[in-house]
Amino acid sequence: MPGFEVFGDEEKREVLDVFDTGVLFRYEFGQQRGGIYKVRQFEEAFAAYTGAGFAQAVTSGTAALKVAMTALGVGAGDEVITQGFTFVATWEAILDTGALPVFTEVDETLNMDPADLERKITGKTRAIIPVHMLGAQARIEEIVAIAAKHNIPVLEDTAQASGARLHGQHLGTFGACGTFSFDAVKTMTTGEGGMIITGDEKLWRAMSEYHDHGHDHAENPGGRGADGRSFIGFNYRMMELQGAIGLAQLAKLDGMVAAQKANKKIIKEAAAAIPGVTFRTILDEEGDSATFLAFMLPDAERAAAVNQVLRDNGAGAINFGENTWHFYPRWEHLARGATLCHDGWPFSYQGKRRVVYDPMALPRSAELMDRTLVYQIPVKLSEQQRTTMVAALGRAADL
Ligand SMILES: *Cc1c(COP(=O)(O)O)cnc(C)c1O
Repeated sequence: MPGFEVFGDEEKREVLDVFDTGVLFRYEFGQQRGGIYKVRQFEEAFAAYTGAGFAQAVTSGTAALKVAMTALGVGAGDEVITQGFTFVATWEAILDTGALPVFTEVDETLNMDPADLERKITGKTRAIIPVHMLGAQARIEEIVAIAAKHNIPVLEDTAQASGARLHGQHLGTFGACGTFSFDAVKTMTTGEGGMIITGDEKLWRAMSEYHDHGHDHAENPGGRGADGRSFIGFNYRMMELQGAIGLAQLAKLDGMVAAQKANKKIIKEAAAAIPGVTFRTILDEEGDSATFLAFMLPDAERAAAVNQVLRDNGAGAINFGENTWHFYPRWEHLARGATLCHDGWPFSYQGKRRVVYDPMALPRSAELMDRTLVYQIPVKLSEQQRTTMVAALGRAADL
């Protein structure tokens, strides 16, 4: 999964370009920067790569969600639907806009269950955020069709799926916009960083202005200090060093995905020998970024027994049913409504609780996650790592 596995001279050269100018800021300094605009170039390259019309770089995948939702007009009093299997950032960003997250079940794609989405849409639903978890596709075509029926925009959280496609179309381009993360463990990384893509120029302009204190970025003789503004903003600007690293990493993305695919095939073949095993539904194998392999056992007990053998043989798998950062029943701070705010915001307002999250509310997801085992697939699988994993899976097959 992580792009840091392939850091090399390309990233260094890009970063040195920036140091040669001394300009770390993405805007202005026209004289000094000698035509070098790394963040802008990264945005253009990312838009071209994904086939989106426009791209807006920001400081993180979390910021990307916040900026995208704000541009879509999401705020206090709204509901935003997402799935119960995601990273906490997805719903943190929703709460940060003032809206309330509503969680759906996941199905065997390990992503949003469209039937449950349909049940959870209300008059207050202002956006829908399916998450393309573990490098592969949510049922995005169905989700977009349901959302269109209700006239609700879809924001695809594509943080974990850079380089992934469905029927040849890059994930993140099906809905109104798609957000990406380039944090330290993502498929391509800039250390910290994020991107939003969209085909809607008006939406992109709103994101561009909001992420930079409302600066309208229109040409004017007074420069940046004389920029106009149409609404309040904030600061989520990416810096030039991140843009530089992003350019080098993006150029390596397809190569990383190809290497992961080859490695995933080896591990999957070994896992297929385990009696009763099934695999996560991948809607389009060709478009899978292959950052993870997820397989299911018939029940939780069997999954635990298999994982014990894998652990004993040096190749333990992740059980997201136990993972405190990615799965709804384990988000105890969400269930408790724990916040630093003195009056309980965003869970309470003026002494009244706005929302309570029952940890038992997603039973079908819990049943599924408890019997699912996951391996992260490295870009570079060493001979020794491969031998260990294949041998451990072989032992599990004999269980
Ligand atoms: C990593 C991640 C994010 C947040 O990205 P950061 O860049 O770490 O802020 C959001 N959603 C999902 C699904 C993620 O995996």
